[in-house]
Amino acid sequence: MSAIKCIGILTSGGDAPGMNAAIRAVTRSAIYNGMKVKGIYRGYRGLITGEIEEFKTQNVSNIIQRGGTILKTARCLEFKTPEGRSQAYGTLVREGIDALVTIGGDGTLTGARCLAQEFNYPVVGLPGTIDNDLFGTDVTIGYDTALNTIMECVDKIRDTASSHDRLFFIEVMGRDAGFLALDGALASGAEAAIIPEISREQDQLSDMIEFGLRKSKNSSIVLVAESEVTGGAMGVAERVKKEYPGFDVRVTILGHLQRGGSPTAQDRIMATRMGVAAIDALLEDQRNVMIGMQSEQIVYVPFSKAIRNEKPINRDLLNILRISSI
Ligand code: ADP
Repeated sequence: MSAIKCIGILTSGGDAPGMNAAIRAVTRSAIYNGMKVKGIYRGYRGLITGEIEEFKTQNVSNIIQRGGTILKTARCLEFKTPEGRSQAYGTLVREGIDALVTIGGDGTLTGARCLAQEFNYPVVGLPGTIDNDLFGTDVTIGYDTALNTIMECVDKIRDTASSHDRLFFIEVMGRDAGFLALDGALASGAEAAIIPEISREQDQLSDMIEFGLRKSKNSSIVLVAESEVTGGAMGVAERVKKEYPGFDVRVTILGHLQRGGSPTAQDRIMATRMGVAAIDALLEDQRNVMIGMQSEQIVYVPFSKAIRNEKPINRDLLNILRISSI
């Protein structure tokens, strides 16, 4: 019998579709294994203020298909201070919560790691972010849904782009990572993707114009990853207007619609597998690990690895995009 009798669960940082599916799986797996579950609202803020409710199996009924997070999320600066974390730990002790499952991105895992180290407390993290920028997992919860949303939006923009012979720069999210832009470009048949991983090395814009856009196409779509490195879609469009006059340039910033919507089957299944794996990990006395998925297998990734390492993009995909858009 596990020493863990009660777990807490929270979602933090940017919301991602599939977080609810993960909450449901964690809750039900914990109950199945004889544990109590406490839902903590608004991420680490709720841990400090004590906004907590016991979750039974019905609390997570009818949520697998819903985007966002029923536990709400927040950004909590106080938790970045030792005093804030000390208060949070006090709440955990007071509430009789023996271990914590956190769902979120890089910042959430960093916070989880601080709590775990400072108080020798068991925490397991689930990768919940549309950006896919966590090392040690092939994909994160929410990524597939966001990618499908981007694909649908780009399909729509293509109709108008080709009717008017226009060059569209479409900005997608990703923080400092180019996964959504690159995979989004492949999925939607865009002509190119401008991503921060490559912008550090070469001028993608001139490559793109010289290689393809001048040759045969009247309309083109280029996905640009939001990032200071790329300058975003606005920055890229300004450069084109200045350096390559003659194109009829338009910019669309997809923005927060990329975060919303009902999760895809892939995200629901992955979130469910990862949620169950989080409880398995705690039962196996694993602590301070992120649950990852590598080649369809669940893996445990130490927080230190998941946070510190930069996840590389697959460079072959850039070439495939180039070839498939000539
Ligand atoms: P995400 O988890 O999506 O990357 P954030 O970067 O906003 O989102 O982080 C979510 C929360 O995690 C923050 O509001 C803060 O409470 C906590 N957090 C982030 N970075 C740290 C840190 N260095 N130390 C402690 N807590 C952190």
